[in-house]
Amino acid sequence: MTKKTTQTFAVGTGSVGFFSRRVRTVMTAVAAGALGLIGSQAAPAQAIPGGTVEVVPSMAACGDRGFEKSLQCGAAFTDRWLDSWGASDVVEATVVTRPDAAGVYPSRTTDGVCVYANTAPLAIGLHHCDRYTFVVPRTDRELVSDDVDAIVLLAHESAHGFQEKAGLMPVETSAIRDTRRMLPLERSADCWSGAATAWYIEQDMLDDDAVDGGRELMRSIGGSAGHGNADAREQAYLTGFEGGSGACNTILGRDAFPVRPTR
Ligand SMILES: [Zn+2]
Repeated sequence: MTKKTTQTFAVGTGSVGFFSRRVRTVMTAVAAGALGLIGSQAAPAQAIPGGTVEVVPSMAACGDRGFEKSLQCGAAFTDRWLDSWGASDVVEATVVTRPDAAGVYPSRTTDGVCVYANTAPLAIGLHHCDRYTFVVPRTDRELVSDDVDAIVLLAHESAHGFQEKAGLMPVETSAIRDTRRMLPLERSADCWSGAATAWYIEQDMLDDDAVDGGRELMRSIGGSAGHGNADAREQAYLTGFEGGSGACNTILGRDAFPVRPTR
């Protein structure tokens, strides 16, 4: 067993200001993050989409130290969450789309295509397609006021990866603005991020009050087409937090998310 040393980073209040949000990391987590880095360098080179830059997952980046570091922290959390399901392939990388970069490519996971863009006429912010989670800083920065925001948002995006593996097409559904079909995809993804939050707390990776940060985030991003309003998003998130991933399958109407055996 690796010796566990608990280290608590400084408390940061986000733009919301109501909740203290502390991210707790243990040295084992930091070590795992470092190993993850080495692992990804040793792995066979997998080309990330052109014009994007990989966010290097890092537990050591946690501590509410700005957008870029919170993204690295969130990516490291997502890796751990997916590893816990034996599903690390669902998100191969979180990538930042560079200014003036854009691309379309056929998905390896679905019959559809993936699109990303960070150009003057078109910026496609936070979304997931075919094992990559895309981020556009100029549109997404305002969503992330601290680590918990990044952790919850990247967990949400990973849900779309599970949906794709189950044969669903969240990207196409939102591209054609089919809001009726989008809703269960988005609500089950909010649910999945709630289930992730509960697991992080259980693992002592987050403090208990992280759920308040997640709820506040859901409320703040409620109302966009096909995602549900503030109440609906908060409710979906809490459904996952309290009921686990099985509840997210219920929202989605099919078994896209893995469920842990009941003990
Ligand atoms: Zn989504």
